[in-house]
Amino acid sequence: MVQRLAALCLTWLAAVPAAAGGPAGQGAAPGPFHVILVTADAMRRDALGSAARTPKLEALAAEGLRFTRAYCNITTTTPSLATILSGLYPRDHGAYENTARLDGELWTLPEMLSSHGWLTAAIVNMPWLNPEVSNLTQGTDELFRCTEIRAAAETTELALRFLESRRGEGRPFFLWIHYIDTHTPYRAPARLVRRHDPPARDSQPGSLQAVWPLFPAHHRDNPHFQAWLAGVDDVEYVRASYWAAASAIDEGVGKIVARLKALGLWERTLFVFTADHGESLGEHRIWFAHAGLYEATARVPLVIRSPTGPEGLRVDMPVEHADLLSTVLGRLGLPLPARVRGCDIWPRLGSARGRPVFLEHAGAQMEAVVSGRHKYIRHLRSITVHPGYPVQRGREELYDLEADPAEARDLTASRPDVLARMRAWMKRVERPIGERRASRAPIDGQLQENLRSLGYTE
Ligand SMILES: [Zn+2]
Repeated sequence: MVQRLAALCLTWLAAVPAAAGGPAGQGAAPGPFHVILVTADAMRRDALGSAARTPKLEALAAEGLRFTRAYCNITTTTPSLATILSGLYPRDHGAYENTARLDGELWTLPEMLSSHGWLTAAIVNMPWLNPEVSNLTQGTDELFRCTEIRAAAETTELALRFLESRRGEGRPFFLWIHYIDTHTPYRAPARLVRRHDPPARDSQPGSLQAVWPLFPAHHRDNPHFQAWLAGVDDVEYVRASYWAAASAIDEGVGKIVARLKALGLWERTLFVFTADHGESLGEHRIWFAHAGLYEATARVPLVIRSPTGPEGLRVDMPVEHADLLSTVLGRLGLPLPARVRGCDIWPRLGSARGRPVFLEHAGAQMEAVVSGRHKYIRHLRSITVHPGYPVQRGREELYDLEADPAEARDLTASRPDVLARMRAWMKRVERPIGERRASRAPIDGQLQENLRSLGYTE
């Protein structure tokens, strides 16, 4: 049971300014806003910032806040969504697998909002997000479960149908929508793929055959993966399919915002758009997978639009998914759980000073800290899943993200001062809050096949 006490921003408390100020202080008092949370599976941060790829998200950002340095806390779907919905790091909630079930005593955002009178709904598009496997939708009144993998247009249609059902209703609602189109196999209508892969493009095609040996064995040997790429030998075509999938999600967001406005709901809606993690499209020899803790995979798009503003603000300080729960509850004027890891972003707006961000890798293979302009990665195991990027226990990596955004120059030898500081940050955050309390749902044959169809080994 969660005690309704003032929350502590655990771990980083000393680094956080004490008083709320800046843009957070402006505008009207918080109210019982509707809340829409959109999570796009595996959508990279750089899907935003390009009007050609995601014009509707650009328009949404113009009405709210665009975060240029938002990070996931883990690169696996269910654990990452658990962090978004609980405000806890994976080492706090204990979920590390897609089939994880949170301890029933941990409260999630839908449960909290439900207890305060919100109608709660969710549209999920992963078989393991259904309630017989995952309890992330616990507290959800209307669940659109995953019966088959839906394309963005179908997912959007369900969202629009739900919004229509709220016409004339005064009760605030929470709607969580999870899109899957940017997860392998990338899904997009041909018209969008053509837009991103014109016949006369600048770049020369790279050979998929040449990079095939760099795919993990469980992809190379997977008939679903083979079928997806059958007949394709152009890396740029696959990349174009990815950006087209991002555009398909963008179109969906545009329709949802337009419908909210048409229904007169927009002025009372808090809208959050993010991704559970990014995707590597060849960076660091990691192909079409959310592996590694480099920026392509660890950094995510984040747009928040609040009815009380501010509008059109670009925020460059590092923020993390664990901050979202506190930030949403803060905008609604609701109390926070007693034990939550992240902190409300609003009091820090206007300050250049961000808090360090903590990242974990799927399978507890690696962990990382981002502080200011630097990123420190530590390898915890020795394992080669991606042949182009073996994980080597004891290896450390240090990058200056400002001077070297491609993370190509490891500074562990040349900057011992920064290395020592980053190690200290790591030590500070490593201790979990409480015990790891997740369990693993049973995996039947159908679920196992569903996992394989999306490239997982379980
Ligand atoms: Zn995911």
